[in-house]
Amino acid sequence: MPQRPPLDSATLFERAQAVTPGGVNSPVRAFNAVGGTPRFIRSASGAWLTDVDGNDYVDLICSWGPMLLGHAHPEVIAAVQEAVARGTSYGTPTVPEVELAEEIVRRTPVERVRFVSSGTEATMSAIRLARGFTGRDVIVKFAGCYHGHVDSLLASAGSGLATFAVPGTPGVPASSTDLTLVLPYNDRAAVTAAFAEHGPRIAALITEATPGNMGVVPPEPGFNAFLAQTCRDAGALFISDEVMTGFRASAQGGWGLDGAVEGWAPDLMTFGKVMGGGFPAAAFGGRADIMRHLAPEGAVYQAGTLSGNPVATTAGLATLRLATDDVYAHLTATADALKAGVTDAFTAAGVAHRIQSAGTMFSVFFRDAEVRNFADASEQDEKAYAAFFHAMLEAGVYLPPSAYESWFVSAAHDDRAVQTVLDALPSAARAAASAGGNA
Ligand SMILES: *Cc1c(COP(=O)(O)O)cnc(C)c1O
Repeated sequence: MPQRPPLDSATLFERAQAVTPGGVNSPVRAFNAVGGTPRFIRSASGAWLTDVDGNDYVDLICSWGPMLLGHAHPEVIAAVQEAVARGTSYGTPTVPEVELAEEIVRRTPVERVRFVSSGTEATMSAIRLARGFTGRDVIVKFAGCYHGHVDSLLASAGSGLATFAVPGTPGVPASSTDLTLVLPYNDRAAVTAAFAEHGPRIAALITEATPGNMGVVPPEPGFNAFLAQTCRDAGALFISDEVMTGFRASAQGGWGLDGAVEGWAPDLMTFGKVMGGGFPAAAFGGRADIMRHLAPEGAVYQAGTLSGNPVATTAGLATLRLATDDVYAHLTATADALKAGVTDAFTAAGVAHRIQSAGTMFSVFFRDAEVRNFADASEQDEKAYAAFFHAMLEAGVYLPPSAYESWFVSAAHDDRAVQTVLDALPSAARAAASAGGNA
């Protein structure tokens, strides 16, 4: 047998860059915001990642949210192994997709749900449905909210508040974003002005249930209810994007933090990440009278070869069934312990910081004032974050390689994992202090 060449992250990254743009299949993985070489992960178990170089890390990314129960949960793996042995895709209706849909309908306000394979597909389809249902074209979104790489949602604010957007990336034609309005988050006056000017043309407003893609920026009290009411008054639909927050921020997602308490429901919701149990599965759903407009019941076309895939929906179902109140209590306690550790270490080292939370989700901003929107989030000390990130990585903690992300924990983050993070924090905080603008 020929000797296999040694696998190390640096060599693999070179090989990857020769065959894949930037060496990665999703940009943030490339470490561009923090510098250095991404670690190639060989395996994961519970709260831990193991890279090809043989290093172990406490995982604070959790696949960007999905791994609510931790990696390779024995019951999820067993369910998936049984499902795989029965064949991996039939292109017909199956049992697990019905059961997963029932579970989602039970836990959220949606009455009907349609499965797709990614969060991007979910938001894209929800928007098409909203336009088909209302017969209108304009979409409202907020700066800093990420809804996947849908053309019309990769939009930057135009020159004035209630003016239409410009493409946020090359490759998106202006004709894809000139029906999109981009507003500052948590800004009721901007929403009121946009609806006053364009209300009769607005098909839907889409927002993250509680934003987590600019770091965690919770809605101010009553903001989501205000959005829902503004949409209702204008005959537009309120789309709550729960791809990140669904079954993660709380047992009932972001909606569980305010809508369930205040007594309103979105017209449409999108899900992904946790509900796929680590597989490519996502969904959109909502009011039955709206969802009825989807093919084959209605005229709005939408389809997918692997939609409702039996292996992916089995993994999602196993995950949601194991996501009990105890799991959410554990996530909260774990997040609290980490937040306290960050506060102590950063205060001792004199690092400007602000921790914001939404249910079990939290993030650490490298600035000392409240972050209400994307403009606030952009005023972080990114150099300090990069130094902090690398010091943590050296100490065995895998944080998101960007200052604009939530930190994710799982049911498998036990005392040993938490202690590893707490032990790493003081010297990483000092590294941040000497690299940052506030040293
Ligand atoms: C991750 C995410 C998406 C996109 O999901 P993909 O599966 O990456 O396409 C959409 N919306 C939100 C809120 C997300 O966090």
